[in-house]
Amino acid sequence: MQLDDRHDRPCPICQNVPAQPEIFLEERIDPGKLTEFSFSSRKEPEHLCYQMVRCPVCDLVYVDRPPSQGALANAYHTADYDSSEEANDAALSYIRAFTPALSRIQKGAALEIGTGTGIFLEELSRFGFRDVVGVEPSTAAIAAAPAHRQAWIREGIFVGDDFPAESFDLICCFMTLEHVRDPRDIAESAFRLLRPGGAFLAVTHDYRSIVNRLLGGRSPIIDIEHMQLFSRRSVSALLEQSGYANVEARPFSNRYSIRYWNRLMPFPSGMKKSVNAALNATGLGRAKLSLNVGNTAAVGFKPGQP
Ligand SMILES: [Zn+2]
Repeated sequence: MQLDDRHDRPCPICQNVPAQPEIFLEERIDPGKLTEFSFSSRKEPEHLCYQMVRCPVCDLVYVDRPPSQGALANAYHTADYDSSEEANDAALSYIRAFTPALSRIQKGAALEIGTGTGIFLEELSRFGFRDVVGVEPSTAAIAAAPAHRQAWIREGIFVGDDFPAESFDLICCFMTLEHVRDPRDIAESAFRLLRPGGAFLAVTHDYRSIVNRLLGGRSPIIDIEHMQLFSRRSVSALLEQSGYANVEARPFSNRYSIRYWNRLMPFPSGMKKSVNAALNATGLGRAKLSLNVGNTAAVGFKPGQP
């Protein structure tokens, strides 16, 4: 993997170059541990990371010397894909979190950037959206999708110019803004592609949430795949500076099986295995549990009447 082609960058939201960068996280890279699996979603946390600094202007935490966009695109293209039960659970959590915003907009065309197997497109279709389309770089994720969803998904990295301006009522980007080289480009491209009155929905980790602060360096947000980390303030800044109105960023709960929560916990792997065995033996592992794990549901609207 060509992940050593790295260059300095300013804050990817506000373009500020801090005179004295505040180091948020020291670099922890072990090239021997970097695998293609490092770049897939919902895997077991590895706790490798590039150096991250905090922007004093907009509160974003970001890798100031990230690998090139091309190297990242290639890493995601070849990433293995993982877990569909958790993707289903996440999609339902997102529908619940965004129901007020979804109820305010036209149910015409919807686009999801980083759609995985397209499970959220399925939920949007059920919610009443007439046309759904997703963009996904991982070949393995698309191959894992049922045939009817594969027809909705375009393989590749999202490029705004691939779609006509003002052609969508809804654009979603969940757990993806952390992974890209230029989150501002995504938010601004989505703005151009939305019709007036349309909504942009994003789910991001919140590095300032209690759970992530308690876990510190063992938090699953600390990962080689994250080019930036948002707080509620910085994801709001991203949307507002990209032109959106009525921006809101709120915490919400994710509902997952207890077995999956165990996998995410920062316990030693031997302990995880025995807890997992107990969960499987009792059947308790399949029970679902809602927890606020420090994620943010952010929404902004394109000004104007639909
Ligand atoms: Zn900034």
